[in-house]
Amino acid sequence: MSAFATALEPGPTAPQHQHESFSFTLELRFLLSYEELIIVLPLRHLAITAAVACTAALPAALQAAEEPVTIYSSRIEQLLKPTLDRYTEETGVPVRMLTDRGNALMERLAAEGEGSPADLLITVDVGNLWQAADRGLLRPIQSESLENDIPAALRDPEGHWFGLSRRERTIFYNPNMVEESELSTYEDLADPKWEGKLCLRTSKQTYTQSLTAMLVAEHGEEATEEIARGWVNNLATDVFTSDTKLLEALAAGQCAVGIANTYYYGRLTNQDPEFPEKVKLFWANQGEGEGGAHVNLSGGGVTAHAKNPEGAIKLLEWLASAEAQTGYTHGTFEGPVNPNVEPEPIVKSWGTFTPNTTNAAEIGSLQPVAIRLLDRAGYR
Ligand code: FE
Repeated sequence: MSAFATALEPGPTAPQHQHESFSFTLELRFLLSYEELIIVLPLRHLAITAAVACTAALPAALQAAEEPVTIYSSRIEQLLKPTLDRYTEETGVPVRMLTDRGNALMERLAAEGEGSPADLLITVDVGNLWQAADRGLLRPIQSESLENDIPAALRDPEGHWFGLSRRERTIFYNPNMVEESELSTYEDLADPKWEGKLCLRTSKQTYTQSLTAMLVAEHGEEATEEIARGWVNNLATDVFTSDTKLLEALAAGQCAVGIANTYYYGRLTNQDPEFPEKVKLFWANQGEGEGGAHVNLSGGGVTAHAKNPEGAIKLLEWLASAEAQTGYTHGTFEGPVNPNVEPEPIVKSWGTFTPNTTNAAEIGSLQPVAIRLLDRAGYR
């Protein structure tokens, strides 16, 4: 165990930015993934959190009869562990897990190469999943079970990775300041009529980059840069480092309209049943030809140098199955990828919507373009 923990020193991608008033215990409840920590927590703290990880080099005598599966996960351990414990109970397969930020795990996989103990990479955001595949860190797999359980738009067409939960990024508004009928699309939020009214998350966050990449897929680079410029011109206040703070700013009337991931809204609603009266969800881009609301993912793929690829595929199939999807998504207020699974009641209360069907792989591949154009547009 110590070998893994001590190796987790800050790498070249260590975050520069710390949040002024970060309260670890308070914020941790709002975290699904280490991607959330990039902005608010120095990596040194991550090393402590990651010390829960187990080594892949257990003495042979301690190994169970079933061959273990080793996961590198940027999904927060306490969210994933109950589901994995159930898998071990049901199958007898031990699951080992190392948790860290997505970028750090990818660097680690690349550095370890053939010697990597990891069989499965689980991370959030299509940008990260695409990047892992693009860097040759994942192997393509074919599985009828995964193809049946996960709609085509929510997995890599070549089988390098598979979505495991859906996280929509849509429009939220303060009903005392905005009429629902005034809202329509992400693009419309660039219109000067929203000047001084818009709250946005920082462009350093991968969620912003993926949404922008989706717009690039729809409109091209130049038109999307104009949209980003319009957003920046309409900002009510500095960009936010957290969707939770953004939603709270909407509730406080600091801004009238904003863009955030749905599961943060779910958690705030779970804590305060009156929150939906202060801030309302609006499904973006539902009109004819508007493309649909942006769907992002958490997901996983079998690593290029997996020692137990069969075990990794079986675990992935189980995570996408109706049996495991409830546990994987309900505690987090995310949406199941498996269409046969009922969403958590708060998630269900948001109703149905038309999702954008741009394949997640295309969104991921356009992230570098999105990052550059956001920079040019002055979106910090
Ligand atoms: Fe998040």
